[in-house]
Amino acid sequence: MRILVTGGAGYVGSHTVWELVAAGHEPAVFDDLSKGHRAAVPEGVPLFEGSLADRAALDEALASFQPEAVMHFAGSTQVGESVTNPGLYFRNNICGGLNLLDAMVRAGVRNIVFSSTAAVYGEPTAVPIPEDHPKAPTNPYGESKLFFEAILRRYETAHGIRSIALRYFNAAGAHPSGRIGEDHTPETHLIPIVLQAVLGQRDKVTVFGTDYPTEDGTCIRDYVHVCDLAAAHILAVEALADGAPSDAFNLGNGKGFSVRQVIDVAERVVGKPIPYEEGPRRAGDPAVLVASSEKARTTLGWRPAYPDLHTIIETAWRWHKEHPNGYGA
Ligand code: UDP
Repeated sequence: MRILVTGGAGYVGSHTVWELVAAGHEPAVFDDLSKGHRAAVPEGVPLFEGSLADRAALDEALASFQPEAVMHFAGSTQVGESVTNPGLYFRNNICGGLNLLDAMVRAGVRNIVFSSTAAVYGEPTAVPIPEDHPKAPTNPYGESKLFFEAILRRYETAHGIRSIALRYFNAAGAHPSGRIGEDHTPETHLIPIVLQAVLGQRDKVTVFGTDYPTEDGTCIRDYVHVCDLAAAHILAVEALADGAPSDAFNLGNGKGFSVRQVIDVAERVVGKPIPYEEGPRRAGDPAVLVASSEKARTTLGWRPAYPDLHTIIETAWRWHKEHPNGYGA
């Protein structure tokens, strides 16, 4: 299938592009390279360098590549930044997404797989969180993704666009080949930050909040391997092509790890102690986010290949060790 992947030079997007190629699909990337990396796009995969704010660039990419479906990863993704700069999140994630949908309507492309997030739920009232859990995002990032899910439903009614929204829990790890991995500037995610501390690229890890209502006082998250997320996108786009109805699925392993536990597992992976300090809470962070991914398993047939946190961190460690400067020189 020919699939246009927005944000295909970013972290989850690039892993999905690699897996699409491996599965025999034909992806092309649409990315403004503001966060993404040209080097993350496999050789031979077309790269349309453009922004979601640029309607003409979207029209051109769709007209020239003529995709049968779109996977939409492009957007702003940091919880903390969304609290201090909500305008950026609503503009990029909602206005940018609307430009994409309108371009799809004009081009007659009717299937889209959308990168959503566990942040749509907010503070959970039930754990593990099922898809029908109340949606009460605690930050603008989660709100922007939830609004876009609602927009997708309206675009189906009005324009016949079918969508699958995949609500990721905590994307982590790197491609087992060691060729691509996570490279954000600035880095805000826990596992790469922990590994940067191992490499001496930062003095220590700051644990954001030790007074949460959890066993050890630190936040609990459900870490899911980036290649397992990629696999779910492929299952979703194939399901849409087979006529599956629009839907939303959680993607996680159903097992939560506290920040302290992540540091412990990372210490075992790298074989040395990792310096950390206790700091205040980060705005917008719910205490616990753990997925029920039963629906993805039963409906899409999703089976994570790397469900174990030790393995997830091992793949990330390989990438960081071999590419201490990420995609940079
Ligand atoms: N975290 C932390 N120190 C850091 C970065 C993150 O304690 O330097 C915590 C963060 O508060 C959250 C968890 O680690 O509870 C995972 O954060 P991350 O930013 O990786 O993902 P998010 O949950 O925001 O999607």
